[in-house]
Amino acid sequence: SSAFHTTKEMQNMPSFALHMEGIAVAEAADLNGKVTEMKRAGREVAALCVGEPDFDTADAVKAAAVRAIDAGKTKYSPLAGIPELQAAICRKFKHHNGLDYRAENIIVSSGGKQVINSALAATLNPGDEVVIAQPFWLGYPDMVRMYRGHPVFVETTVAQDYLIQPEMLEAAISAKTKWVIINSPANPTGAVYQQADLEALAEVLRRHSEVWILSDDIYELIVYDGARFATLAEVAPDLKQRILTMNGCSKGYAMTGWRIGFGAGPESLIRRMVNVQSQVTLGPSTISQWAAVAALSEDGQITGERLRILEARRDLAVSMINQSKGLVCNTPKGAFYIFVDCRETLGKRTPDGTTIASDRDFCEYLLQHAAVAVMPGSAYGRSPYFRLSYVVADRELEAACYRIQEACAALI
Ligand code: PLP
Repeated sequence: SSAFHTTKEMQNMPSFALHMEGIAVAEAADLNGKVTEMKRAGREVAALCVGEPDFDTADAVKAAAVRAIDAGKTKYSPLAGIPELQAAICRKFKHHNGLDYRAENIIVSSGGKQVINSALAATLNPGDEVVIAQPFWLGYPDMVRMYRGHPVFVETTVAQDYLIQPEMLEAAISAKTKWVIINSPANPTGAVYQQADLEALAEVLRRHSEVWILSDDIYELIVYDGARFATLAEVAPDLKQRILTMNGCSKGYAMTGWRIGFGAGPESLIRRMVNVQSQVTLGPSTISQWAAVAALSEDGQITGERLRILEARRDLAVSMINQSKGLVCNTPKGAFYIFVDCRETLGKRTPDGTTIASDRDFCEYLLQHAAVAVMPGSAYGRSPYFRLSYVVADRELEAACYRIQEACAALI
């Protein structure tokens, strides 16, 4: 029926899983490939499309991994993670979030993404619904679909800082709802839920005792303007038995390649997630876990310095984008993305005569004309927008934003 099965080369071939149809390789990875190719061909492209900080992993963290290798800590990890990392995670939750968890409440996985995946694998039955804010991180709906669940989207708007509104959440929850996902700071909008915002959502969630709640806190350390990070289990302790708090080392500690994420939740859920993980990876990398122990014991100096750099870049990017003809964006309170409205560019013509008909066209124009790679909003369920990641050095960011301004000015 679909292109997936009817392409010519697929005929007379073994077939593929139906539930994977329509689930694509993450679009950002695709675009990254294109950027790498352009760079190889000698073009200088600003990759403002990636979901990772440009910072290097801290030296102390690297040294801890080297020490682990030298000490022969190179065997299988316990399924849910090494006890030393579980203990460091419990300390982190206590000190940063005021949350009490024990080792039985903790799972360590190969990235935060695997935590979410195991949670969905352990709980979703076909037809179950998962409530997700839109614009969304594409990982959520695609993972839900992998387990034959249905994503249900709650529209958020710039006028409300891209925060889920309680009445919208109430309207989205049905008898089939299995999970509600809250992501703060959010990808792709940078939205940050303050304590009062979470309290209002908790009011709604209290009325739906059969619903699990995922708090995706992977960007916890990247909150600006001196705001205090809040997480649902802390704000609404009465819901803690239904909350999976997910976090990890990827974004805050510049450790995306180490693949260490973790989840904290009720033992019943964690046990079943460990069961899933035992059939998928047998547990995360032992060496990376020793690196994560060192990262979580960091005194905050490195992460604090980096936060100041990111905040300055955010201000630069927001101001330069808003000075670009036809572009407008808000000032996000967290993460390292800005989400830009580009509707004013639609219908305009580029210098070589093509008409911009969509955000995808606009992004392609920026790539070719300005040598800047950004992600089209359609990848996050909201058009015509694009996501810009300000994860390159200040000078490169400034130069890229100038080129965006020129490209916008060249549209007629
Ligand atoms: N959650 C969100 C909102 C993300 O943006 C990402 C990565 O882009 C992840 C989770 C996954 O993080 P990790 O690299 O630890 O798997």
